[in-house]
Amino acid sequence: MTLTEAHIDRADRFGAHNYAPLGVVLCRGEGAFLWDVEGRRYYDFLGAYSAVSQGHCHPRIVAALVEQAQRLTLTSRAFHNDRVGPMLERIAELTGFEKVLPMNTGAEAVETAIKAMRRWGLEHKGVAEGDQEIVVAAGNFHGRTTTIVSFSDEPEYRRGFGPYTPGFTLVPFGDADALERAIGPSTVGVLFEPVQGEGGVRIAPDGWMRRVREITLAHRVLLAWDEIQTGLGRTGRMFAFEHEDARPDVLILGKALSGGVYPVSCVCADREVMDVFTPGSHGSTYGGNPLAAASTLAALDVIEDEGLCDRSARLGAHALERLRAELPLARFADVRGRGLMIAVEYRERVAKQVAHDLAAAGVLAKDTHGSIVRLLPPLMIALDDLDAALDLAIPILAAAA
Ligand SMILES: *Cc1c(COP(=O)(O)O)cnc(C)c1O
Repeated sequence: MTLTEAHIDRADRFGAHNYAPLGVVLCRGEGAFLWDVEGRRYYDFLGAYSAVSQGHCHPRIVAALVEQAQRLTLTSRAFHNDRVGPMLERIAELTGFEKVLPMNTGAEAVETAIKAMRRWGLEHKGVAEGDQEIVVAAGNFHGRTTTIVSFSDEPEYRRGFGPYTPGFTLVPFGDADALERAIGPSTVGVLFEPVQGEGGVRIAPDGWMRRVREITLAHRVLLAWDEIQTGLGRTGRMFAFEHEDARPDVLILGKALSGGVYPVSCVCADREVMDVFTPGSHGSTYGGNPLAAASTLAALDVIEDEGLCDRSARLGAHALERLRAELPLARFADVRGRGLMIAVEYRERVAKQVAHDLAAAGVLAKDTHGSIVRLLPPLMIALDDLDAALDLAIPILAAAA
């Protein structure tokens, strides 16, 4: 048995089988590179689903984490700590929202946004308790809690996990007219991803985000963008909603918020929405802990100081241009992207095999929905490394079409 096989065997025997990972066992990361236990080096073209946009083990973020770990790690929110205030102020400043509520995982932040919109509907719109409706998009991915899978339309996310939470209406993604038709007197909020990540980098028609903003304003319905994956530079802007000036009422962040060193998520909103939370109505033992706060402060500094939004825009355009020029496009269903959020979509369900072949060649990417390969390298990747990885990947991507 190889070292790799021994590790996989142990994880198989003792772990739940809720993932089907590629057969590599990683033990080290630096920047855009990962190494496995056999000593092989890979280009990371998944970036932990866009959580390590700043690159693996960024020295500044790790230093902040380690320094804080030696001083104070967890107080709970029963007391104040000296790191949470600076983090909240920093996120408020970055996003332009008055208030920030810190949580840990993305799913928790989405749950937080749902609670905020429902209570806002009750207190500010006069919708009766229990009648609050939230409109969501077909093909959505917002996490894995029982409430969130209740409004997924992906059978594998849902099967056997009912009874499902009511209060959600599905409309086609990217269809503003369908959204307008779906809004009724009990609608309190709209929850969309600007670009659907897990759905396979689905990009809505131009103007959709702007119209969603106009419609929600016209009907006095809250707009929540889930930017857990698209936010913090991934699509070439700090936030994807900036592409169309579609500033939401509720902004949900996670993943790259801590640069991949610690689970940190948050919900941002102005006072009218955030003030629906009163002591006892929401919380989390680890939410806003000093270690999370220190990591986040450093991770956000890195995004700004290293110009990662601009890099994402430039390198993403370059990568997409190369893919479109060098792949036999007629044999693909689509090759699309926004910034360094790129998808290659096949006509057949070959993506899993492609991801496997890419890994064998030294590029780690992930298939989704059978026919889509997603490319999400860390935003700090050097142009030469991006090109070298594309040199390896393009022949493999082309061969499967
Ligand atoms: C990853 C993701 C989530 C869930 O985040 P977790 O940290 O895995 O709970 C929610 N929404 C979007 C858009 C995501 O990409």
